[in-house]
Amino acid sequence: MTNQKPFEIARETLRQLTARKMAPTPANYQAIYSEVAGVPAEPPFPVDQLRDIAQALPLKTPGQQKQRGLLDSAIGQLNWDGVKSALMAYGGFSPPAIAAGTLASAAPRLDSLSPALTAPALTADFFEQIARLIAYALPALGSDDARFAEQTQTLLTALRQPGADVVAVKLMLGNFGNRLSFAAEEQAEIKVTLLKLLHLIIENIGELSLDDRWLTGQIEALMTASTPPLTLRRLDDVESRLKDVIFKQTEAKGRALEAQEDMRQMLATFIERLSQMTESTSTYHGKMEENARLIEQAKTIADIAPVLKDVVGATRTMARDSLTARDELRGMREKALATEAELVKLHQELDRVSALARHDPLTGALNRKGLDEALDREVSNVRRKDSPLCMAMLDIDNFKKLNDKLGHATGDEALTHLATVTREVMRPQDTLARYGGEEFVILLPDTSLDNGVAAMTRLQRELTKRFFMAGTEKILITFSAGVAQLAANETGPEAIRRADQAMYLAKRAGKNRVLGA
Ligand code: GH3
Ligand code: MG
Ligand code: MG
Repeated sequence: MTNQKPFEIARETLRQLTARKMAPTPANYQAIYSEVAGVPAEPPFPVDQLRDIAQALPLKTPGQQKQRGLLDSAIGQLNWDGVKSALMAYGGFSPPAIAAGTLASAAPRLDSLSPALTAPALTADFFEQIARLIAYALPALGSDDARFAEQTQTLLTALRQPGADVVAVKLMLGNFGNRLSFAAEEQAEIKVTLLKLLHLIIENIGELSLDDRWLTGQIEALMTASTPPLTLRRLDDVESRLKDVIFKQTEAKGRALEAQEDMRQMLATFIERLSQMTESTSTYHGKMEENARLIEQAKTIADIAPVLKDVVGATRTMARDSLTARDELRGMREKALATEAELVKLHQELDRVSALARHDPLTGALNRKGLDEALDREVSNVRRKDSPLCMAMLDIDNFKKLNDKLGHATGDEALTHLATVTREVMRPQDTLARYGGEEFVILLPDTSLDNGVAAMTRLQRELTKRFFMAGTEKILITFSAGVAQLAANETGPEAIRRADQAMYLAKRAGKNRVLGA
């Protein structure tokens, strides 16, 4: 080791380079410098080779472009640590310094080394941001799927773990992304379905309402207010309108009860009057008998005169009483008849409405309420007879397109056509219910899963033979269906849910098919 000062070594190095006619490259400079300074010569820095490597690296993503800049700069500064760090970041690895320590404690040290080495600190920050993004999005994804919730928690823990393994996290993020896409789709579907349900409820309230123009207007407004795009404000509006409708319905019910009470009171008065009549008639008879006795015993005409006066008076009173009673009774009868007519009308209306409320007015199939009752019946039959029960969930394919192309009215006709064909193809003991817009449930008693799938496939075939005619245009209606057989420990709605999931899979598998659950 020489004790020359650095600038003297540098000057001597330059002199030697010139004297030996060597090119003033960094490598030559370093070699002569080591020689002059008397320190062991380090192997030359392979700038050209490293630049070659840098040139060959891809530059597709912003991350790659950034690392390439850091790599070029590290090569220019002959900085091995910088080169190493940039190349590792390129490959998606954390530099070893990070794996050994924690990201947080390593960051300041790394920062002080070179700009390229700040990448791991960026990674930790970046992971935290992803973790926060996922945590913020969670409430929108629902909390019903326990496995998804668990997967999310594992991912969040991994993202926030000091010294997170980039490769492992990347893999987890990929898997999470797949599941997330299903969860998000499901949530969107749930929202649409809830809205459909809301519409169904509103429709049913409309059907139940007695003839009332105000109510009809409200129902129409509710339908419009609950149609997407939804905002919280519009939902508030739906809520307050629904409250009004419920209030009005309670009032209508109150009116019917009042009419009934009037009728009861009138009957009571009627009976009272009748007994009064009998009473006054028997008083009259008593009086007449007494007068007849007096007449028999009378010796002179003068004796008869007061008796006659009494008879005339009693008869007059009797006649007057009868007349008043007759008028009163006639009035009451008229009132009773009117009230009765009103009650009959109300009852008829209620009968009609409750019959309607079990059927879908468009297709004549059972509605949700009717389906619930039928399902209860079938399930208790199964428990009694120990026979298989299948349920099929059917959803028309691309119905929205049909509506868009041919109009809503033609869409309605298509629904009716499907219901008609289904009723004709199915056995009399099978039950058809409209589950939602263009979704139907068919209950198939005494049917095994295989036979259930076969029955639905038969219906599919039948629909290919019996086209739906939109005017003169032949339209082929296809559907996707899922079939589930009620299991021993399962409720009816649970089996329907399984059928629905199978139907969903049938849609995802390309539609126009039947899948067993
Ligand atoms: P997919 O094959 O995935 O089931 O698509 P799709 O279009 O059939 O299903 P989507 O759920 O997107 O649309 C259903 C459409 O059914 C939307 C709605 O306008 C329509 N619809 C629901 N109820 C009725 C109805 O009573 N009459 C008519 N004409 N259309 C209805
Ligand atoms: Mg649908
Ligand atoms: Mg559909």
